[in-house]
Amino acid sequence: MKQADDYQELLGRIAADVAPLIGSGTPAEYIPALASVDPRRFGMAIADLDGTVYGVGDWRLPFSAQSITKVFALALALSLDGDALWERVGREPSGNPFNSLVQLEYENGIPRNPFINAGALVVTDRLQTLTGDASSDLLEFLRAESGNPDLAFDQEVADSEGENGDRNAALAHFMASYGNIANPVPILLDHYFWQCSIRASCADLALAARFLARHGLRADGSRLLSRSEAKQVNAVMMTCGTYDAAGEFAYRVGLPGKSGVGGGIVAVVPGRCTLCVWSPGLDRRGNSVAGVAALDRFTTLTGLSVF
Ligand code: GLN
Repeated sequence: MKQADDYQELLGRIAADVAPLIGSGTPAEYIPALASVDPRRFGMAIADLDGTVYGVGDWRLPFSAQSITKVFALALALSLDGDALWERVGREPSGNPFNSLVQLEYENGIPRNPFINAGALVVTDRLQTLTGDASSDLLEFLRAESGNPDLAFDQEVADSEGENGDRNAALAHFMASYGNIANPVPILLDHYFWQCSIRASCADLALAARFLARHGLRADGSRLLSRSEAKQVNAVMMTCGTYDAAGEFAYRVGLPGKSGVGGGIVAVVPGRCTLCVWSPGLDRRGNSVAGVAALDRFTTLTGLSVF
């Protein structure tokens, strides 16, 4: 399964297998910029540990990365903060939708995990304190790891997130009332919305996630995370990366994965490769229908799961 031809053939087969599902589900509707994306798009990329990338369909077309950026923000915050980060955010699945408020009051403003919105807001808050410019830091990191200097924020999406951001604002203010947000909430929200708006392709995101398959080593060979921290991030992706569908995702795909409401999903085969799939039609839990099916086919056809 290492040769280029093998990966190309595999991707072609997966694309054919999931073709009947492309266009099913519904693109995210909470902001106009996402609702207007063509639901028939489908792309998938596989990046080897050495940075060779293979793809099928719309794999070079940029889309809204949305919550996939939460993985990169977590990795950056963990690299700067170490274990102290876990005093402010947990690492248990929430079993609730990604934008849910309900657990926060029972659990004193400490979000269940870094991949629901409340947890991601805490991580971005921490990153803002540590770097002074959380969203730019994240964008620079993604540019460096993907080797694509053209990666950028999407102004229209960021503005739209802000205009429709009452739920995220509520989460941030509520956690601030428990002392779990250090920066002014409007500044935090700006960085969070910029972060969500980053546009990147399947190729970019598969390449950028390689440090998770490389046990913490960045593209240039320097170390971002210890081997143990890379394992921790992969573990939290496995248990929490697809919100209240994480159990189903682990059951079907068997890989650490992180989805976003733009329709993308990044998945990791530790020690082997990274994948990114994109198709905008979402199921009711906010995960790409064709995307989950494609990753399911990948692990079924190759046997490359963590189990
Ligand atoms: N921008 C979205 C939000 O905060 C991201 C959510 C997601 O991709 N699940 O609501």
